[in-house]
Amino acid sequence: MSLKADKGSKQRSRERCKAQTKAGGACQAPAVERGLCFFHAHPEKLAALGRQGGKRNRHWNAAHRDLQQVPLKSIGDASRLLEETINRVRQGPFDLRAANAIGFLASVLLRSLEQGPIEKRMAKIEATLTANASQTKGP
Ligand SMILES: [Zn+2]
Repeated sequence: MSLKADKGSKQRSRERCKAQTKAGGACQAPAVERGLCFFHAHPEKLAALGRQGGKRNRHWNAAHRDLQQVPLKSIGDASRLLEETINRVRQGPFDLRAANAIGFLASVLLRSLEQGPIEKRMAKIEATLTANASQTKGP
């Protein structure tokens, strides 16, 4: 995937897919062909991907149609999202702006998830120190 090709498709990517999602809403994916996004222009590719990837890929295909939510509560969740995004980008036509946004947000999320346990530990230490201090002072 060259940078030049990406630049050339920038104009077209502002156009949104004309197809509808299974849920009945407008497809939000950028149009790449005949006013359709890659997956609506090539429904057979979607089926092929599903067959090829089994359970793991079905997750992404569903996300394309009606933006299924993925859990993002743990470092494992965030890592999984990054892993899927990276593999999805490597597989071929993918909204690179979305991939960049996911990459950025996931790294922010990872940092905040890493911060959580530290804050909990600090609170525990503080509570212990306060308890000890009041014990030694005594009434
Ligand atoms: Zn579409």
